Amino acid sequence: MTNDNCIFCHIASGEISTKKLFENDDFFIIEDIAPVAKYHYLAIPKSHYPTLDTMENKDREVLGSIFATIGTLTEKLSLQNGYRLIINQGEDAGQTVFHLHIHIIAGQKMNFPHFKR
Ligand code: AMP
Ligand code: ZN
Repeated sequence: MTNDNCIFCHIASGEISTKKLFENDDFFIIEDIAPVAKYHYLAIPKSHYPTLDTMENKDREVLGSIFATIGTLTEKLSLQNGYRLIINQGEDAGQTVFHLHIHIIAGQKMNFPHFKR
């Protein structure tokens, strides 16, 4: 399942050439183009799901697989000292690319964000 207007689908297909740090049948990992920390990667399922709630049940396994696989890549991605995984879901969370992805952030101490209510 792909979307012609989606930048992550273009990266998945190789139409836009981007270095993939990891790839299997279900997802791949690239560096974020605008890092917010020393290390900032994106784990991107190959199938085009705009958001979490548009995933079908049978496909949700890819999320567990991504979480488990990241745990095996700690050295390769310099995650030994810890890391944070983030999904920005929808408008309030500031999602800008509507192809589900997981941010992997690492390489420095992080505060937990507090937002003005
Ligand atoms: P989000 O705001 O959660 O939708 O995150 C989208 C992320 O994709 C942002 O952190 C962008 O910097 C990143 N991004 C957008 N285009 C590219 C690209 N071509 N290659 C790598 N990262 C990208
Ligand atoms: Zn897509």
